[in-house]
Amino acid sequence: MTVRTTKAAKYAIIGAGIHGLSTAYHLAQMLKATGRGSGEDILVIDKTSIGGGASGIACGVVRNNYYQPAMRELMAHSVEVWESDPKAYSYHPVGYMQISPEVMHEQVGTIYEQQKAIGYESTFIEGAADCQKYMLGLFDDWQAKGITSVLHEKRGGYANNTASLYGLANKAEAEGVRILSGVEVKGFEYGSNSGAVTGIHTNQGLISCEVVVVGVGPWVIKIWDMLDLPRAINIKDLNGDVHENVPMWKFWCLEEGTLGVDPNMHKTNDGKMPPVIHVDTDAPLYSDVDGSLITDKLWGLYYKPDFNFGGIQGGASPYKVEQDPYDVALDPYGPDSPDFIVGDDFIHMWCSMLAHCQKRFEGKIGLYKHKEKSGGLGCFTPDNFPVFDTFRENVYVIADSNHGYKMIGVGKLVAQELMGERSRLLEPFRFGRFAKGELHPTSHSPFPWS
Ligand SMILES: Cc1cc2nc3c(=O)[nH]c(=O)nc-3n(C[C@H](O)[C@H](O)[C@H](O)COP(=O)(O)OP(=O)(O)OC[C@H]3O[C@@H](n4cnc5c(N)ncnc54)[C@H](O)[C@@H]3O)c2cc1C
Repeated sequence: MTVRTTKAAKYAIIGAGIHGLSTAYHLAQMLKATGRGSGEDILVIDKTSIGGGASGIACGVVRNNYYQPAMRELMAHSVEVWESDPKAYSYHPVGYMQISPEVMHEQVGTIYEQQKAIGYESTFIEGAADCQKYMLGLFDDWQAKGITSVLHEKRGGYANNTASLYGLANKAEAEGVRILSGVEVKGFEYGSNSGAVTGIHTNQGLISCEVVVVGVGPWVIKIWDMLDLPRAINIKDLNGDVHENVPMWKFWCLEEGTLGVDPNMHKTNDGKMPPVIHVDTDAPLYSDVDGSLITDKLWGLYYKPDFNFGGIQGGASPYKVEQDPYDVALDPYGPDSPDFIVGDDFIHMWCSMLAHCQKRFEGKIGLYKHKEKSGGLGCFTPDNFPVFDTFRENVYVIADSNHGYKMIGVGKLVAQELMGERSRLLEPFRFGRFAKGELHPTSHSPFPWS
């Protein structure tokens, strides 16, 4: 096939989501500061548009709460980036609360200890009675059961998904970065003497480039294939046992929605906007509609009042997509998908969870925003943690394993690496950890991303 060369760029970034845009902006700044170039050396391409992927539908929660020390350090760095320009990033620093049952008490305690060690401000409350008192001090209708620890992170909060992406895109464009919508990557061209990529085949022709950054969110499975990277890998576990042929990618479906009430109805007792609330509990969950038992297993939810979504927005644990990941229909994505949007079961469960936690949500299921479709796919690595690494000599892959909207700082660290400086914070997320058995510890949380 003869291909037209339509564009050329020293740095070609695939994907105009949080990672592609953050990398572009920070790289442009660093090129200029060092006299090694400018934003004009950077081209961002996206098959749809800015925010056409997971970043554009993310709930937008920004937290530090992770059981894995390397994730916590990375999140603390990202929170600094959010705090650096809250207006442009549409960031609301209301804080975040992890409210947990006894089975998670000890692990959350270690998170608190390590937050102290890295200077990340938080309060830790222990014991059922003290937790109840603390929560009633914030919300006089608090009634969640089975809670024995509360970690209250004073930093973090949430940001408005699309607004923050446009904030980033504006900053990048002001540095001279070009962002092209409607350009879909179809394959790569390699050098004759090396495996390095020299060009990107797109629906608009060939784009020649020296460095490629891949920030394609859930579509990473497709670009990974185009780069001829392995569909299955060997993994050494923490006991030293090797598991052969483990699939590299799997999908989970995130379930989120909005209760269409006035967001002002969920303020703290002193009239302030509340922290983002995340509750996990093993107390039985009963229907707020008919009192029937929904589950007696560990369950969890998160929520926040959000004027952007127009109500109380949040979600519950995702479910694993059992289909072969290569058969999963990624497009149309998010709310436009016929398959991966929430249904009545989620709505019934999540509204009952809200009512379990706070009396003000009892009997409100009728106000759920049925007409606005929600939910979306995330593509996860074998250990559910990100891979940030270089492949084929000059292709930097940012595969965030769906942890990523909050990780606005990753693009800054990736830009540093592209400038030749290894990042200590990204080191624990290399692809080589699977073969070496350098895996991250796992938590008791019901969520695959905690
Ligand atoms: C429903 C939902 C809620 C979430 N909530 C949160 C949250 O509250 N907090 C949080 O931290 N994380 C959250 N996440 C996870 C987070 O959204 C993702 O981890 C993150 O946004 C991924 O960012 P990205 O830049 O890698 O990819 P994306 O934002 O998915 O962007 C990738 C872009 O690449 C483009 N693209 C794909 N393939 C090609 C191709 N072949 N050629 C050209 N362009 C291509 C797409 O069009 C897309 O615009 C949520 C995810 C979902 C699905």
